[in-house]
Amino acid sequence: MQKNNKSHHNPEKGDEDVISSLDLPDIEIPEIPKEVISTLKSRKKHMCIKKEGNESTPACNQASVPGMVTQRSCVYGGARVVLMPITDAIHLVHGPLGCASCTWDIRGSRSSGSELYRNGFSTDLQEKDIVFGGEKKLLETIIELNQLFKPSAIFVYATCVVGLIGDDLKSVCREATEITGSRVIPVQSEGFRSVNKSLGHQLACDALLEYLIGTETPQKKVNPPQKEGKKPLQKKRETFEKDPASEDDVLESQITSQVTNDICVNILGEFNVAGDLWAIRPLLEKIGVSIQAVVTGDSRVEEIANAHLAHLNLVQCQKSSRYLADSMEERYSIPQVRVNFFGVEETSKSLKSIAEFFNDPLMMDAAENLIEFETNRIKDAIIPYRQRLTGKKVAVYVGGNKAWSLIRAFEELGMEVLMTGTQNGLPEDYQRIKETVRDGTLIVDDANAMELARLLEKYQPDLLVSGAKEKYMSLKMGVAFCDFNHDRISSFAGFQGFLNFAREVDRAVSSPVWKYTPSINGSVFKNPLKYPFKSKTMFNAKSQRESNCKVKSESMKCKKSVKECSTKPKISPEVM
Ligand code: SF4
Repeated sequence: MQKNNKSHHNPEKGDEDVISSLDLPDIEIPEIPKEVISTLKSRKKHMCIKKEGNESTPACNQASVPGMVTQRSCVYGGARVVLMPITDAIHLVHGPLGCASCTWDIRGSRSSGSELYRNGFSTDLQEKDIVFGGEKKLLETIIELNQLFKPSAIFVYATCVVGLIGDDLKSVCREATEITGSRVIPVQSEGFRSVNKSLGHQLACDALLEYLIGTETPQKKVNPPQKEGKKPLQKKRETFEKDPASEDDVLESQITSQVTNDICVNILGEFNVAGDLWAIRPLLEKIGVSIQAVVTGDSRVEEIANAHLAHLNLVQCQKSSRYLADSMEERYSIPQVRVNFFGVEETSKSLKSIAEFFNDPLMMDAAENLIEFETNRIKDAIIPYRQRLTGKKVAVYVGGNKAWSLIRAFEELGMEVLMTGTQNGLPEDYQRIKETVRDGTLIVDDANAMELARLLEKYQPDLLVSGAKEKYMSLKMGVAFCDFNHDRISSFAGFQGFLNFAREVDRAVSSPVWKYTPSINGSVFKNPLKYPFKSKTMFNAKSQRESNCKVKSESMKCKKSVKECSTKPKISPEVM
């Protein structure tokens, strides 16, 4: 990290004058790489190459450059992705209909019970509501939704418009709680509140801390609610938990026969994307740990309300849940342990650190035996994947903790991570990334589409790991693509998840389709007319026909149609 003082040499002439004139000697500014790729001057400081002696991390948590199409989401989106996986709740968006497009499908969280969370609800504010206020409409909507669906809770999200017109979300939710007897929880997530959606994660956690965790079920003002019978979702859940286990049951039961599950933990920042939680839960149970609540994958409102009873918080996604873990430590004295269930090494480390935390010899033995058993089980199956993938190069551009947690998993497959980055990283996130990656790795913050394309062109990875927004750009540039955000369909957590991960990466990277795609070497932005196809047959069909044409000498422009042309080029079946 360079110190900002008058003797500081900055290669960017102009910046030097501005910095000198500010005369703020204690401000640390990142070292600006000379030229990773061609981009705007103001964007250069958002890229940083890890190397010995370079302590800087990319500039981050700043407004995107106006006009650039970045991959970011708003504060409301940040709050929504954290709370949306609570399955038996209604998620009501107070605002115009457009904001409600951020729905369950964006998160991809699975449920073993209620599917209520998958519905999209909005107050659909119109011009009249903007002029006269939307509080009345909101209250009526909540009451109607409560009558129709009998949810365990209704989360009400504030959007930009609501912040501008000044609707009092908290008082409407309080009144609705008294009328319905249901938990109605305001989430003050106006989209404009920050350039970084991480604030939305924090606001979502604030809503949980203030209105749910450690609170009693609210009572109706009049007409106390009828006692309901057993809910179908509970029944379904019991069935799920009793599902027959794998064929290795007998062996596994020997590993864990002595442990008792009287220790309970919360998992914070696990969203059950593609069923990850269902791979983690049995591992914990086998070392004698049961789960009190998950924030928020496959969770129920009442489980989270009792999260303050847990003995320990396991923090899986530090980005979205570190704040919640710290707050629960302060309020309820619940300690925290960082875990990461992606990859064999990280999963093993996490199980060991849980056992070490409880300092229970039986649990430690169970963890050691489980790790040995599971590692042996997948050892042979992983070999063919590793053989094909060793030496392949990866670019990672994802959100949240995946920017660093996937790195070790790729290395376990023999792959090399060339670059990694996130859309909404904070300084501590980039510090963590820097501690994880090898020297020479590029770390990039809030890259836009053009920069990503240029980075792919420069680094020529065999695989881009990113979200749906970058998929088609990657495929069009002939780079294999995996979506490890919310669109993936197989679980990657735990030991079995690592096998799924290896299979999915291998399918993408080793697909024969890449033999037929253009090379991205040095042409994408320079001269599209010289785009170098490996087979030029289709691309040059017209010019080949013209150059072979026998009538060309007689007439500069051949009048024959393609059908009539005797010199029509043969198109290789390989290309077709
Ligand atoms: S920025 Fe504002 S208007 Fe846009 S989606 Fe977010 S909350 Fe809605």
